[in-house]
Amino acid sequence: MLNETILHHRRGIGSGLAFVVSGPSGAGKNSVIDRVMQDLPGLSYSVSYTTRPPRPHEVPGRDYHFISHDEFERLITAGELVEHVQYLGDYYGTGQAQIKEVFAHGEDVILNIDVNGAKTLREKGLLRFTVVYVFLATSSLTVLANRLRARGTENEQEIEARLAVATRELAAIPMFDYLVINDELDQAVEELAGIVTAERARIIP
Ligand code: 5GP
Repeated sequence: MLNETILHHRRGIGSGLAFVVSGPSGAGKNSVIDRVMQDLPGLSYSVSYTTRPPRPHEVPGRDYHFISHDEFERLITAGELVEHVQYLGDYYGTGQAQIKEVFAHGEDVILNIDVNGAKTLREKGLLRFTVVYVFLATSSLTVLANRLRARGTENEQEIEARLAVATRELAAIPMFDYLVINDELDQAVEELAGIVTAERARIIP
């Protein structure tokens, strides 16, 4: 009996925690999130909607729900998105239904969204979730540029556009709760996993 009482004092898994991971394109958010989800139980990935075309290795429904501009605008009008942005000419947004489903399954959710989406959630909140904001970056823009070029999924013009966005995004770091540097994948994974674990161990006031 006493043990149960003690556990009630901490958040634990699936208590309605949402981890928002933002940061420049190319900083490695997907790789870090994938590894943390393999390492820790009870985490569910929020699959966003986007109008951008799939990259060769991307799987519809796993990486994104790839939809048309018209379909996206219908979701906005129907109020089915908790946040959405336009990023370099395409729409990206988070579905309300998916977030609710994670909550119903007793898991915590990880969102991979841009800085403007994170700002919206800071202002509006995210349903009944307690949101933890994590900024993931490389230690410099030079490292980021090298990473984007090595990835080879965008042409030089698109890379320049992503670097310009990244420069603006860095100014938003102070609105986040944590800053994880991903120059070395294993270390970034350890840090993000550490953040999730620490937040789950928080005492409920
Ligand atoms: P990419 O085209 O590289 O997959 O994504 C471009 C940017 O859009 C990334 O910074 C990514 O985090 C962000 N993004 C992906 N899904 C969403 C979303 O649902 N909402 C917002 N606000 N940004 C998103």
